[in-house]
Amino acid sequence: MVRVRIAPSPTGFAHVGTAYTALFNYAFAKKNGGKFVLRLEDTDIKRNVEGAEKAIYEGLTWLGLTWDEGPDIGGKYAPYKQSERLETYKQYIERLLDSGMAYRDEGAVRFKNTNSEISWNDKVRGRIFFPGEEIGDFVIFKSDGFPTYNFAVVIDDILMKITHVIRGEEHISNTPRQIAIYQALGEKMPFFAHLPTLRNKDKKKLSKRRDPVDLRIFRSHGYLPQALVNFLCLLGWSHPKEKEIFDLGEFVELFNLERVRKAGPIFDTEKLNWINGEYLRKIPKSKVKNQIFEFYKGKYPKELISRIIPLVQNRMRNLTEFESLAGFMFERKKPLRVTDSFEWHIKAAFDALSGIKKWERQAIDEGLINKVKSEGFKTGDFFMDLRASLSGSRVTPPINDCIYILGKDEVLERLSLSLK
Ligand code: GLU
Repeated sequence: MVRVRIAPSPTGFAHVGTAYTALFNYAFAKKNGGKFVLRLEDTDIKRNVEGAEKAIYEGLTWLGLTWDEGPDIGGKYAPYKQSERLETYKQYIERLLDSGMAYRDEGAVRFKNTNSEISWNDKVRGRIFFPGEEIGDFVIFKSDGFPTYNFAVVIDDILMKITHVIRGEEHISNTPRQIAIYQALGEKMPFFAHLPTLRNKDKKKLSKRRDPVDLRIFRSHGYLPQALVNFLCLLGWSHPKEKEIFDLGEFVELFNLERVRKAGPIFDTEKLNWINGEYLRKIPKSKVKNQIFEFYKGKYPKELISRIIPLVQNRMRNLTEFESLAGFMFERKKPLRVTDSFEWHIKAAFDALSGIKKWERQAIDEGLINKVKSEGFKTGDFFMDLRASLSGSRVTPPINDCIYILGKDEVLERLSLSLK
């Protein structure tokens, strides 16, 4: 049975690169009816950060990348935190020491390298060779009582019966060391697949100083998890029909490692914005309504949200833009005076709108346009002042729609306030 894993270290926040690796592991497991394991690599005690573990769980759960075994839910091969597996590592160290395949060196333990060439058939990159001498006698157990990454990862993968190791390309140089340990222990090695490193528009590796990499940033900026997942699917992988918008289920259905490309995919936030906008247009209005309601923590009433959605759904690229486009529909903003004729325009608009008996879209349209004609205003200037007076902004959804939804009393109130 296929068993894959991710092994993030709780050294900060949930990184979008972890989500990317998780996504490809998840898809591979689901496609093959296998299991996806979450294991925490927390033996570098000094680097562990409080709260990072929770951030990883929350970030992956938000994206719908759920795991079958892990520290929080347990499983047949528990424990899933390396810090709780120290006894196990020590036993294996003893075994290697006893058989002469490792030796003590100043309190640490080193693996005795046989210097034979090591190679594997990488599922993404084809065969990779490493000359044995390049590996050397490396440390597998540190004098502080903790195993090194290269050792612990192998022991865990053996005991957790991992069949495929799918991880970032930055680990390629670790792989020959890990293979040497499998060989020394007489264990069958798993398949390896090294995913390309995500790069920003300058082709540099994503970094937390330069790029948005913390999953919470995407969440708080109003990206939909489905859209972020879709975006990540397209990094280094392409849909066989060149489709750009598809869901996780379809990705799982079509996924195979052979379609993953080696070249570093570009993490282009413009593309993410586009995909997110597509999702906001595509998903049913009632769902968008709930997403907006929850995103703004109940600040805006659902009924009003749903009346405004049709006005903004085509322009919104993420949920924060709902507020920038339509926030004025919920609360008054400081009016903006755009043209020199502001006073005249607003007085005339007040006049036209206050005369409307039955508050309907058509009556609003006609009342305003007749006024523009009879006063000889420039249409564009008139509507710009009207818009800016009601919203405090030069850019809004169609202003007559907004006027209709705001209601007569509120509109007249705002117009008169903007003349003060
Ligand atoms: N902690 C490592 C990482 O997150 C694990 C690498 C591995 O999967 O072997 O990159």
